[in-house]
Amino acid sequence: MINAQTAYVAIFGNPIAHSLSPQMHNAAFNHLGLNIAFLAFKADKAAEAAAAIRTLGLLGASITIPHKEAIMGHLDEVDDVGRAIGAVNTVVAQEGRLLGSNTDWLGVVRALEQVTELGGKRCLVLGAGGAARAAIFGLQNRGAEVCLMNRNQERGHSLAAEMNCTLVEWQSWDLLEEMELLVNATPVGMSATRDQSLISAQQLRGGMVVLDMVYRPLETRLLKDAATAGSICVSGLEMLLHQGVAQFEIWTGREAPVEVMRQALVESLANETD
Ligand code: NAP
Repeated sequence: MINAQTAYVAIFGNPIAHSLSPQMHNAAFNHLGLNIAFLAFKADKAAEAAAAIRTLGLLGASITIPHKEAIMGHLDEVDDVGRAIGAVNTVVAQEGRLLGSNTDWLGVVRALEQVTELGGKRCLVLGAGGAARAAIFGLQNRGAEVCLMNRNQERGHSLAAEMNCTLVEWQSWDLLEEMELLVNATPVGMSATRDQSLISAQQLRGGMVVLDMVYRPLETRLLKDAATAGSICVSGLEMLLHQGVAQFEIWTGREAPVEVMRQALVESLANETD
């Protein structure tokens, strides 16, 4: 029950209507009996989001597309991780100051570490956007060797140079023979491209671990093909969950009820109609 002592956390982004963060975090707050509520706001500008966090005295915030980079200029401090990734998805208010961090990379590594060790693994990351940056940071942090493949070579080249990983040619799928891990950090497979995958089923092989960051649908074409090939599949829902678990722990200082949060995500996705 919301009352005059309730503390608030909110997500800011645009679009925001499909965010699952309110269900995931409210389920966790309720489960632990915390007097905290999670809200969602459409924000056209990062500056407006930062101003709202300050004005409303929020406990913290989650920042999503398209404000993860721009929000950095409106905070009092960004930690080393946020600066290394070049994006902030988590803000916490401490003594009137707004501190930014990034938990997307933890979402990637914790999702993968449920099924495999990452140290020394050869990984191929598809995409060169914000999600790919977080994945590369996380994989390198755990000692994996990262190759990057991106449709736009120039963008791929500049990210590979910045993050000190190897850029490989677009669609050089023979490389998968040498890879132990594949991460799709592109939106291919989602919504309008629902039944598509960048990689044909024949190019996938058993034994490799495949993470598809796309979680609408939960089982993408890539994951279906990977399962058929005998790969170990990790859904984008697990990344969403674990970046949220790390956020929850930053905001509350409490251990997150992981299974409660996973169930909230699974049920919310199952109840979606479009
Ligand atoms: P972004 O910054 O817009 O980057 C998108 C990347 O995908 C770019 O490298 C782009 O390549 C590539 N791409 C887009 N359409 C493509 C196509 N048709 N064929 C080949 N490559 C294509 O997006 P982002 O923030 O990194 O997010 C990427 C995906 O990860 C999204 O689907 C997002 O929903 C998902 N995501 C999931 C989670 C999670 O928790 N599960 C978290 C963050 C993001 P070009 O450079 O060639 O345009």
